[in-house]
Amino acid sequence: MDNSILHKFQNSVSEVLIRHKSILDIISKYQESCARVNRSIIKAATSCGCIHINAKAQEIPKDISYDELKDFLENHISGDLCDICKDKINEEMGNHLFYLVAICNSLDLDIHEILTKQCKNINTLGKYSLY
Ligand SMILES: [Zn+2]
Repeated sequence: MDNSILHKFQNSVSEVLIRHKSILDIISKYQESCARVNRSIIKAATSCGCIHINAKAQEIPKDISYDELKDFLENHISGDLCDICKDKINEEMGNHLFYLVAICNSLDLDIHEILTKQCKNINTLGKYSLY
């Protein structure tokens, strides 16, 4: 991945984040932005209706391998996001990323380094990399 956009974004966040400089403000804004991402997805189903969420217990046949599991699990979403909902979710995710990077800046962490390490973990450990 080209890291120039990540570094540019991290520098931009650093330059514009003045009002919420305290780590406590940033963490609370980060948590709020996560809730806004979730709400925008929920509103796509409950207000707009462009997607439907039909959650139910996953039915997993016995005697299948871990590799076959993905063929039997559902995401419980049907339909497609309309352009308005897609724009709103994109906006909220962008805002969420802003505060994630703001936390990185406060703690002197490099978002590119974090993503690179996580990418290596996924590629090395595959399905065993997540918990
Ligand atoms: Zn929609």
